[in-house]
Amino acid sequence: MYPARFEFYAPGSVEEALELLERYGDEAKVLAGGQSLIPFMKLRFASPSALVDINRIEGLDTIEEENGFLSIGALVRHRDCERSDALQGRYGVLADAAPQISDPIVRNRGTVVGSLAHADPQGDWGSALLAADARLEVVSSGEARTIPLTELFQGPFTTSLQPNEIARAVQVPDPGARAGGTYLKLERRIGDFATVGVAVHLSLDNGTVGRAGIALTGVGPSNLRAEAAEESLAGAELNEDTIQEAARLAAEAAQPRTDNRGSADYKRSVVRVFTERGLRKAAETAAA
Ligand SMILES: Cc1cc2nc3c(=O)[nH]c(=O)nc-3n(C[C@H](O)[C@H](O)[C@H](O)COP(=O)(O)OP(=O)(O)OC[C@H]3O[C@@H](n4cnc5c(N)ncnc54)[C@H](O)[C@@H]3O)c2cc1C
Repeated sequence: MYPARFEFYAPGSVEEALELLERYGDEAKVLAGGQSLIPFMKLRFASPSALVDINRIEGLDTIEEENGFLSIGALVRHRDCERSDALQGRYGVLADAAPQISDPIVRNRGTVVGSLAHADPQGDWGSALLAADARLEVVSSGEARTIPLTELFQGPFTTSLQPNEIARAVQVPDPGARAGGTYLKLERRIGDFATVGVAVHLSLDNGTVGRAGIALTGVGPSNLRAEAAEESLAGAELNEDTIQEAARLAAEAAQPRTDNRGSADYKRSVVRVFTERGLRKAAETAAA
C-alpha cells in the first residue's frame, strides 16, 4: 500500500525543524532513518500530514564522550555503533546490541535515537540503553529537557516525547573503568526481531557490584527494567548464588505472552538463562 499524501520538509537546522513541528502540531512526524516510520505509513498505521526529515541537519551524527556521558546523536546509525571503538569494553552492552539489529540494509539507515522514539517492545536499543541507565536529550522551541529512559517508554509504540520535540541525542552515563556488559538475543532467524532479549550492564566497585543494569526485550508491553534483580546485585559480590538469584528475579519481572515465537514459560526461562550468561560475561569484561 502507498502512504497517504503528506508534505515533505528537509530543514537545514534544528531551529527550522522545530518551527515546522510547532506549525503542524501532532500532524507532523520527524523522519530519521525511516526504517520504522515508512513501513508504518505504508501500512497506514501512521498518516502524518507532514514529514520533517532531519537528515540534512549537521552535527547530529556524532558519538562523543563529554561531561561524564557518552552522547550518541540523533543521526547515528546502527551501523556507526557497530563500528565504533567508543562502544567497546565498558559500553559492551551497546557494542553487542548493534550488530544484532536486523540486516545491513536496516542498520545502514536506522538510528539508535529513532529506535527509542519508535518504542517497539521488541526493539533492541531500548533494553541495551535502559540497562545502561541512559537518558534522552530533547529540544522543543525555546526549551530543552532530558528524559530518563525509565520515563520514556509508556507502552507499545508510545513514549513521553511530545509532538513538538526532537530528541537530539541519547546520553549514557560513564560507568567507570571497571564496567562491562552484553546483549543476548534469541531470534527465529538472523535479522529477526527478538523473541527474547536480555541486556546486562555492570559496574564493579572494589570487587563488589557498584551498579547493575538488567533490561528485557520482547517480554512486556515495552522494554522492561528488571529492578528487583538489579537491586539484589547492588553492593553484592558476584558469585554463582547471587547470579542465580538475580536471574530468577529477572525471569519473575518478565511479562511474556504465548505467541507463534514461543510459550510464555519458554520465554521466561530464556530470560533466566540469558541473565545468568550475561552477568558472567559482563563480570569478566568488568574485571579485565
Ligand atoms: C525489516 C526490519 C527489521 C528490523 N529489525 C529490527 C531488530 O531486529 N531490532 C530492532 O531494534 N529494530 C529493528 N528494526 C527497526 C529499526 O531498528 C529502525 O531503524 C528503528 O526502529 C527506527 O529508527 P529510524 O531512524 O529508522 O526511525 P524512523 O523510522 O525515521 O522513525 C521512527 C519513529 O521515531 C520518530 N523519531 C525518529 N527520530 C526522532 C528524533 N530524533 N526525535 C523525535 N522523534 C524521532 C519518528 O517520528 C517515528 O515516529 C527493523 C526494521 C525493519 C524495517
